[in-house]
Amino acid sequence: MKRLSQVLFLVAMIALVGCGEEKTEPAAGGSTSGDVTQVSYDLCADCGQQKDTNKCCAEDAETCESCKLHKGSPGCCKMKNGQEGVAICACGHIKGDDKCCKDTADKCDKCSMFKGSPGCCKMEEPAKDKPGDTN
Ligand SMILES: [Zn+2]
Ligand SMILES: [Zn+2]
Ligand SMILES: [Zn+2]
Ligand SMILES: [Zn+2]
Repeated sequence: MKRLSQVLFLVAMIALVGCGEEKTEPAAGGSTSGDVTQVSYDLCADCGQQKDTNKCCAEDAETCESCKLHKGSPGCCKMKNGQEGVAICACGHIKGDDKCCKDTADKCDKCSMFKGSPGCCKMEEPAKDKPGDTN
């Protein structure tokens, strides 16, 4: 029956989500697999800006003296110039850093990331269809 497989699928999804909540894995350098369900925003290794945006590697951007990335970019002074695989978590912090998903700051009204986090109000929505307003 078709219906049964749908139920099994749902159960599997719930089980997966349940597992994910319990363990907190420290960010191990070099792992590129997993984390398919969590929203994150990849940062460019060359400029510290969000990848695939107009800001990324913009030529008129100011360069930060200390990190050589674009000044004021989400990755500015949070990552090393040329560091690959850095991403901003849905919480606004560098994925896997000390404050990631553990910040005590209020959530920003505009972007719903932690206020003052590197990604707060700097990240662009990943290109996808937005659900229409329900009310
Ligand atoms: Zn770039
Ligand atoms: Zn910097
Ligand atoms: Zn986080
Ligand atoms: Zn914000």
